[in-house]
Amino acid sequence: MSIGPRHDWKACKPGQMAPISGIYTVVHVAHRTDHEVIAIRGEQLPPCRICGADVTFYPAQVVSYVTHDFDLAGLNLRMPRGHAKAAKRSIG
Ligand SMILES: [Zn+2]
Repeated sequence: MSIGPRHDWKACKPGQMAPISGIYTVVHVAHRTDHEVIAIRGEQLPPCRICGADVTFYPAQVVSYVTHDFDLAGLNLRMPRGHAKAAKRSIG
């Protein structure tokens, strides 16, 4: 499976659900330069307090939310004991 930038996602408007979990480039009408935000797939994209519904979200990069990652989700293991010891260094 190839991993690389994809730019075929559609632009999203406030009120729509985020199509991916990851980084979105947010483009405002005039009051602010483009910037990036993180949204989680399925979350409703919010309006801008200045632009209202005229703000646009462009999906830029998929980033898995940690509990949505196939290999990281679903298990409920306790951290093995002894990890704290490794961090404790004796001085001298
Ligand atoms: Zn705005």
